[in-house]
Amino acid sequence: MSRVYNFSAGPACLPVEVLQKAQEQMLDYQGTGMSVMEMSHRSKAYEEIIGAAESNLRKLMNIPENYKVLFLQGGASLQFAMVPMNLLSKHKKAHYVNTGLWSKKAIKEAKRFGEVNVAASSEDQTFSYIPKLSADMFTPDADYVHITTNNTIYGTKFKEIPETNGIPLVTDMSSCILSEEVDVSKYGIIYAGAQKNIGPAGLTIVIIRDDLIGNVAEIPTMLDYKTHADAGSMFNTPPTYAIYIAGLVFEWLLDLGGLGEIQKVNERKAAILYDYLDNSGFYKGTARREDRSLMNVPFVIGDPEMEKKFVAEAAAAGFVNLKGHRTVGGMRASIYNAMPVEGIEKLTAFMEAFKKNNA
Ligand code: PMP
Repeated sequence: MSRVYNFSAGPACLPVEVLQKAQEQMLDYQGTGMSVMEMSHRSKAYEEIIGAAESNLRKLMNIPENYKVLFLQGGASLQFAMVPMNLLSKHKKAHYVNTGLWSKKAIKEAKRFGEVNVAASSEDQTFSYIPKLSADMFTPDADYVHITTNNTIYGTKFKEIPETNGIPLVTDMSSCILSEEVDVSKYGIIYAGAQKNIGPAGLTIVIIRDDLIGNVAEIPTMLDYKTHADAGSMFNTPPTYAIYIAGLVFEWLLDLGGLGEIQKVNERKAAILYDYLDNSGFYKGTARREDRSLMNVPFVIGDPEMEKKFVAEAAAAGFVNLKGHRTVGGMRASIYNAMPVEGIEKLTAFMEAFKKNNA
């Protein structure tokens, strides 16, 4: 067996321990004589799987009682529409902060359902920073404020939770959920596609405060949060296997000591990589220092031919998926929870050797 260091932005690497557990349980899950994939979602065995997944996620994120955890499908992209459909109830207006391609997609979708005020944007400098926000940007005539906590493509991240004058705060945490401690009570909705820090693609997690559910009539059944909240994410067949793997990832995180512990590891990993970039005199990080992401680290050499060579030689050496997003070029190392410290140490050693051969 030979596993690579996979720096993909998502779907991304998963903890080896989780994959091994899934392998052990593949043919016969706990004496049921079948794989979790083959199991009825209404079976007792599966009810226990989804129940444990939810309660472990609640434990990990310290999710208050007055929030529902929903296991949905359609990716974070469907949440771009479900959020405005369900939340534009009174003012039919929302404030959005535009910090990248995913924010823009969320804004475009919200405009189908109501008025959007782009309260702040960092588009003027290719989304390389997080704009300064103040509470007075968020006038009270809006049903919610939307941010993208971590910007996967540009490698920036909100370090502070914006003050919104009591307006519910909705955030897309697709690329940073479970990477550090979070105060769920500061948010109205947290949503995330699973394929980075949670598990396989096909599952989307929505954490939603009770009072934000069921305020708009005439929503198609499957797009109404109330449908899924009332049915415990079992209105229709949920993505059963993806939820099972997510549950194994939650157990893995709890065994490590929870989000505080993984946060320390993530900070160490990011520090090694950013320190190397800053001192290399060859590579350059593209995000503003104060706003740097712990999860996605974009960088450039400055010469597209040399960057192509870097990506190819890195892949040949076992460091794969380092090419930057197709819209921005350069390189990007996504270093989610499952990327071990050792992967970063070996990557920086490779980068140093490449620099010596090519500078
Ligand atoms: N938001 C963010 C921050 C993302 O990184 C992504 C995917 N890379 C999306 C939304 C879109 O997610 P999905 O593919 O699950 O719809």
